[in-house]
Amino acid sequence: MEYKKNQYLTVTIEDMSDKGEGIGKVDGFTLFVKDAVIGDTAQVKIMKAKKHYAYAHLEKLLAPSPHRVEPVCPTHRQCGGCQLQALSYEQQLLFKQRKVCNSLVRIGGFEEEFVNSVMEPILGMEQPFRYRNKAQYPVGVDKEGNPIAGFYAGRTHSIVPNLNCSLGVEENEKILEIILEYMKLKKVSAYDETTGRGLVRHVLIRKGFTSGELMVCVVVNGNSLPAQEYLIGKLTQIPGMTSISMSINTENTNVIMGREIRTLWGRPDISDTIHVRDMQKEGYPFTGRELTFHISPLSFYQVNPVQTEKLYSLVLEYAGLTGRETVWDLYCGIGTISLFLAGQAKQVYGVEIVPQAIEDARENVKRNGIDNAEFFVGKAEEVLPEFNERFGQTDVIVVDPPRKGCDEACLSTMIRMQPERIVYVSCDPATLARDLKVLCEGGYEIKRVRPTDMFGGTGHVETVCLLSTCRVSY
Ligand code: SAH
Repeated sequence: MEYKKNQYLTVTIEDMSDKGEGIGKVDGFTLFVKDAVIGDTAQVKIMKAKKHYAYAHLEKLLAPSPHRVEPVCPTHRQCGGCQLQALSYEQQLLFKQRKVCNSLVRIGGFEEEFVNSVMEPILGMEQPFRYRNKAQYPVGVDKEGNPIAGFYAGRTHSIVPNLNCSLGVEENEKILEIILEYMKLKKVSAYDETTGRGLVRHVLIRKGFTSGELMVCVVVNGNSLPAQEYLIGKLTQIPGMTSISMSINTENTNVIMGREIRTLWGRPDISDTIHVRDMQKEGYPFTGRELTFHISPLSFYQVNPVQTEKLYSLVLEYAGLTGRETVWDLYCGIGTISLFLAGQAKQVYGVEIVPQAIEDARENVKRNGIDNAEFFVGKAEEVLPEFNERFGQTDVIVVDPPRKGCDEACLSTMIRMQPERIVYVSCDPATLARDLKVLCEGGYEIKRVRPTDMFGGTGHVETVCLLSTCRVSY
């Protein structure tokens, strides 16, 4: 049976795609249905048909899913940032757990029974909204020429006004209102990427959740902000305001931040504290150990600080340190995980490709009074083979690569180094599964896997995995 464009079909949705489309089957033919969620039965219209699958629009909900919820955000369909917002949070978590499981089976080639035996239940959030500590709003104009801020409507560069994304902190709205009001009053133009003219491109806002400190960085296509004192006067009335800066980006590019940052008022950075939690106890209470990080506009810092505490504490638990170990933390960013590990290891070595991040990592080490963490700038796959032998036997390796996963050279060096344990932190189950297959072929065994929800409302899932050598002990 072949299906064609504009044809109507009735389908029950059984799964969801990474992009948040509902997935259902009609006689073995797969349909990707925008705006449908797991459990819906709907009449759909085919928009684009291929041989074995098609993209379809939801025409009529015949039986809405019991897992449907009213999305809190009025613009969630246009935005597309929260692909799963119409699905109950409980079901979102189940979806993510399944996604990790399926990747390990289908891509990693592991037996389903085995995967089920090593998977632990996903670590969910208590509050799946207002969890992001960072927001980047593009600035533009509406049809009347008034300045607006919001988000890009799915895959376009036209801005849908929305000052209050429900994932971000409440302060975002007030800050953006002040900036738009200032632009109107002082006739400050918004950047237009088609002509390359206009001044204000983006607004970056960050908040230290534990410190309460706020950072605003205005990204401009120029090197000054007119009537800057007026803007500063208004912004500094917001409680917690700590750092106001300007980022200079005069290039015709999709990259948001420019390389040069100028502090206009207050400190160049904000601080935030991450507590170590006891993942063995109910409610994951603080252990009393904590680390403080300084975050500048360009630093990478996890966007969900509450879940980050759990994620890092889980990494620490999986690492199983006793104080005698030599540990490598690959893809270490500003050294956040490294510092967690350093408290319980003999020595930690961190590797990161961005030089600025390593400068931050070294500063963070000093600030926290740590003397057993050393950092290298470079690619993990190059630094590790070059330096590891100088430091003797490695006991534990932690990796936290970007979506594309680890480089082959990195994986083969890890296997050669034969650490007792490897802790793999992944933001993409597909590349995680691919890499785990390589590590297991190289003599490692998966012991524990725990997905963690860092991005409620979205389809993204983070996973922590513990591997150990399968050496037989007598
Ligand atoms: N562990 C950190 C950062 C994780 S994000 C944290 O939790 O905050 C992944 C990091 O890997 C980024 O900082 C990125 O700059 C870095 N990176 C990307 N490719 C790399 C490579 N080939 N070698 C080393 N670091 C790399």
